[in-house]
Amino acid sequence: MATNRTFTMIKPDAVSAGNTGAITKMIEEAGFRIVAVKKTQLTPERAGQFYAIHKERPFFKDLCSYMSSGAIVPMILEKENAVEDFRKLIGATDPQKAAPGTIRNLFAKSIEANAIHGSDSDENAEIEGSFFFAKTECF
Ligand code: UDP
Ligand code: MG
Repeated sequence: MATNRTFTMIKPDAVSAGNTGAITKMIEEAGFRIVAVKKTQLTPERAGQFYAIHKERPFFKDLCSYMSSGAIVPMILEKENAVEDFRKLIGATDPQKAAPGTIRNLFAKSIEANAIHGSDSDENAEIEGSFFFAKTECF
């Protein structure tokens, strides 16, 4: 059964550039309700756990150091068809290929420092949300 939730995090490049507010505004204006939000920082080890699915990829080590290089803003979001609609809102992984007006098109710096994460399935949205938030932090 499809859930109505997805998980996102604003990545270190966008947080340090001062784009947290502008990105959050786009998310809310697109109809997503913020269920949980905080500001935190990953260690390289924890970044590796989050991206464990990519551990054999050539970019894995760099990704872990980048993702632990500064503060991030993880969020659980709610909306009908949340996972698919949110992937559309953020655009393609590579900002050069991200459609005009998408969050990555507007804010990403590179294919690695691409401003924002979005879950790719309902199952991963649940796993990734639980990685950062307890049920008691969800409203
Ligand atoms: N990434 C990278 N180089 C690549 C592909 C991906 O540094 O060639 C990073 C990028 O930050 C991306 C993350 O690894 O968001 C996870 O990759 P994935 O293919 O899952 O992209 P996403 O689902 O985030 O669009
Ligand atoms: Mg992915």
